[in-house]
Amino acid sequence: MKKTALALLSLMLFAACNVNPSIGTDTREANYAKEKRFKALLYWEPHAEEAHVQFDLMSIDFFSALNVGDGFELDTTTSLSAYTYDQLKEYTVIVALNAQPSDPAGRALFEKYMENGGGWVGFHASAYNDARTGWPWYLDFLGGGVFKCNNWPPQPALARLDDRFHPVTKNLPKEFVLPASEFYQWTPEPRSNPDIKVLMSLSPKNYPIGLKDIVYGGDWPVVWTNTKYRMIYLNMGHGDQCYKDGEQNLLFVNALRWIVSRDPSGNPFDR
Ligand code: ZN
Repeated sequence: MKKTALALLSLMLFAACNVNPSIGTDTREANYAKEKRFKALLYWEPHAEEAHVQFDLMSIDFFSALNVGDGFELDTTTSLSAYTYDQLKEYTVIVALNAQPSDPAGRALFEKYMENGGGWVGFHASAYNDARTGWPWYLDFLGGGVFKCNNWPPQPALARLDDRFHPVTKNLPKEFVLPASEFYQWTPEPRSNPDIKVLMSLSPKNYPIGLKDIVYGGDWPVVWTNTKYRMIYLNMGHGDQCYKDGEQNLLFVNALRWIVSRDPSGNPFDR
């Protein structure tokens, strides 16, 4: 091949490789915050089982690290009842780490907060409920699923995306292995509720899953949102392995960012 033809060919190849209309469509300048963008409240339960407390403390470290540079205001609490409604509504998001209010005052406050546009990112036992829980509103909020069963011991599991284009999942692989956790299955299945949008499930390829307590099948959503609320639930959150996977860590950041971005008073990331 002549030198000129070769040069032309390499130029065409270069052009072909660099034409991708899906990349870089947003031409805005980088947006450096002059003030804190939002307020987040980490809510955890110090008297929970040891593996849940392990996750909670690692979560406090994880979310505190996301706040390097003071991009937002971050507070931590072990009791929602310590707040008045006016104080609580200042928070764009509550991140519930294996915690849910059990007292009437805390429950009423949380209901009022969520019914008036509050934001919630819930992990693992924050959604645990059974016949003794006695909180119908919360059951509806979660999508109607009562705890059915779990794998034991905690172990890694293959996850698959149910929606690859949602803001929470768009930059994740279609399938990836979640670090070791205890995963809950629910009845009725949250997916059967038309208000629930499932974003990620455990893959059926995992079955049978467990060494002591074994689960052989069933629909197993692990990340979903109730479209009636500004909420997202993530089933991970048991033990000290949950922050060992970059892809799952990215999922957690995406979940927080998505809930915060839908603040009724405006998207704080656009300010
Ligand atoms: Zn657990």
